[in-house]
Amino acid sequence: MDAHLDGLPMDALRAKLDETGVGGQHAETVFHALHRDLAPLHTLSKLGPRRLSRLLEVAKLSQVQIARAYPSADGTERWIYGLEDGLETEGVLIPMRPGPVPQKGQKSLQRNSLCVSSQVGCPVGCAFCATGRLGLKRSLQASEILGQIAAARRRAAELDRPITHLVFMGMGEPFLNQNALFDVLKILSDPHGWCLDAKHITVSTVGFCDRIDAFAEAFKGRFQLALSLHAGSQALREKLIPAAKQSPLDALHETLKRFPLPGSRYLMLEYLLLPGLNDSPEELEGLCHFAKDLRCIVNLIPFNAFEGCPFRSPNAEEISRAFEHLRNARIPCSIRQEHGQKIHGACGMLSLKQQSFQSVI
Ligand code: SF4
Repeated sequence: MDAHLDGLPMDALRAKLDETGVGGQHAETVFHALHRDLAPLHTLSKLGPRRLSRLLEVAKLSQVQIARAYPSADGTERWIYGLEDGLETEGVLIPMRPGPVPQKGQKSLQRNSLCVSSQVGCPVGCAFCATGRLGLKRSLQASEILGQIAAARRRAAELDRPITHLVFMGMGEPFLNQNALFDVLKILSDPHGWCLDAKHITVSTVGFCDRIDAFAEAFKGRFQLALSLHAGSQALREKLIPAAKQSPLDALHETLKRFPLPGSRYLMLEYLLLPGLNDSPEELEGLCHFAKDLRCIVNLIPFNAFEGCPFRSPNAEEISRAFEHLRNARIPCSIRQEHGQKIHGACGMLSLKQQSFQSVI
């Protein structure tokens, strides 16, 4: 269990407040301040002076700050978060709907997605990912993941660009930090918390069958699931994603077939386009075969080449050839509009390298 008050789901918070003499009956008020209003606890005068001073005595909160911010001309802003032990992790604010940034006092029409990290570095080591090269430094506690989100919400409010969507696609594999992830999702979806629509929260994984089943069991498909597929054959997938050995494609397919999809929900299948590697007709056929009886959308992601990586980015012709292949096979698909390449904030580029960029804070 997280030692910080802001990493506790409601039941655990209530028990903690009871145990420490603040009184569990105040859990909703405290939760509201921590997660909806992002208000300092000393403002909770309605608790009365004795209980408030006890709360301030026992309230250990996560200390996550945006240490550096790197804006890009395309509206993306990449953030480096400082953690209490001196380590750092990353997040990216990504505009989802192009349009002018509203003037002060105007209501924002923009939708902005926050890319959230679950670990510092990553143990999976995908061949195409800069984060994977760092290895795992450590997993984040629930309070640190929520601390990132809180710091991001404050910064986004300053920029007048409210966060409307969350994607767990930053540093780390969320399902390898499952307990913290599940606590974060419980807190985010609690009616006394931030109340972001669950269908606007996406958890992205390279695919561990048992973890996907546990996610389905815990949340019944309320949150969006994205699978990083990236290959149409098991052999190529294992070369790109070492962890793919644990969850072969046929087992993964069976797992996704039983994943609950309430209402109009669908699965996202992420497919990074690596020209000359996974865009051959055979690999794309494998992708179509995997997708055809799933309620899913394939998201084609043009690879962002980075320094020292052995792959190149696809050109426009290669992207449209892959797209047409899927369209001809009647597989619903889209091409992801990538943002933030110039500040190394695009997919697979997070690696804490930013020496050549200028922070604005
Ligand atoms: S793609 Fe995701 S799972 Fe793979 S190394 Fe990068 S952060 Fe880890």
